[in-house]
Amino acid sequence: MATKVALPPSVEEIPGLLNPQACRDWLFRQLHPTGPACPSCNRTIEDSRAVRRFFAGRIISCDACDTRFGPITGTIFSGTQMFAEDLAAMLVLFGMGQRDADIASALDLHRATVSRWRRTLNEHGAAL
Ligand SMILES: [Zn+2]
Repeated sequence: MATKVALPPSVEEIPGLLNPQACRDWLFRQLHPTGPACPSCNRTIEDSRAVRRFFAGRIISCDACDTRFGPITGTIFSGTQMFAEDLAAMLVLFGMGQRDADIASALDLHRATVSRWRRTLNEHGAAL
């Protein structure tokens, strides 16, 4: 009897294999490799509880100027309605060289949305 082998997933299966929490964590740390800093006054946030909340996707306040911000605030993803885990999955699929139509189908997005993200990322030097 032949042993069953796990084959590489199809594009449609990839989002389901990703851990949403790990995706968010990865995305936020890509955006803030040196940790959170206030987008208004540039103060580095050092309080460990605030840093934890920030990387969990929560809004935190700057001690110095009271600006409220989260990990997406002031980034190219600011204002998007997409969940951070879907953004991360989209970046993974772009990085794998998948086509816009396949990414759109895998993430249940409009193809135009995916194409717009590809343009935006390229404008910011992604070279996709
Ligand atoms: Zn501030």
